[in-house]
Amino acid sequence: MRFKLPVFVFLSILSLYLQAQDQVKTDQGTLELHPITHGTLALIWDDKTIYVDPYGGARGFEGLKAPDIILITDIHGDHLDIPTLEKLETSKAKWIVPEAVAAKLPKELAADVTVIANGAKTTALGVEIEAIPMYNLPQSDDAFHTKGRGNGYVLTMGNKRIYLSGDTEDIPEMRTLKKIDIAFVCMNLPYTMDIHQAASAVLEFKPKIVYPYHYRGQGGLSDVKKFEQLVNDGDESIEVRLRNWYP
Ligand code: ZN
Repeated sequence: MRFKLPVFVFLSILSLYLQAQDQVKTDQGTLELHPITHGTLALIWDDKTIYVDPYGGARGFEGLKAPDIILITDIHGDHLDIPTLEKLETSKAKWIVPEAVAAKLPKELAADVTVIANGAKTTALGVEIEAIPMYNLPQSDDAFHTKGRGNGYVLTMGNKRIYLSGDTEDIPEMRTLKKIDIAFVCMNLPYTMDIHQAASAVLEFKPKIVYPYHYRGQGGLSDVKKFEQLVNDGDESIEVRLRNWYP
């Protein structure tokens, strides 16, 4: 007789396994990474819950605590999604946003807003947050992303540094990043960059771990398997984490 694992036991083991895959030890406890969809994710560290670009409806946030911090990168609907924000419990959140986003955030939604510009730093609840430029190349006034409007971010949580690219090409400010432990890097045409640009930039700033995210473009999903291969052909010590951002 074959031994059969009940489905619910199998599923809970699978979900524990998947969660463990998205954890990183810091000198102040475990950092949990929760890919949600597209450019949307949550981070949990030191009892704080951080939402990044909450988008795509409230369902993706089921099981997570209400956010202590909300980071928004840009004004486009896949980053600043007011209908999704309205469905979430955001009353205690500290919002960290660029000026262009602050101008579009309804006051009744966001009480505690800190505006930071490219290059500026702030600290919220023990998390250091630096705003990194994000823009298209060559720069032009009618680009999808003009320099200065949106923010990528580098977060410092304990002894770990996490980079969130936002929507950008392989700009010098990304290529010259230092000591990044975990990077979330976009790759979708025509809005940001292709997998070759993304892999080339990653091989230059060498994060320890990279998550391809924000990879649905006009032609469908970017080939993140190929991105993984390009990165690991150049440097097999970089861990590429492929997750299902488009369930
Ligand atoms: Zn986007």
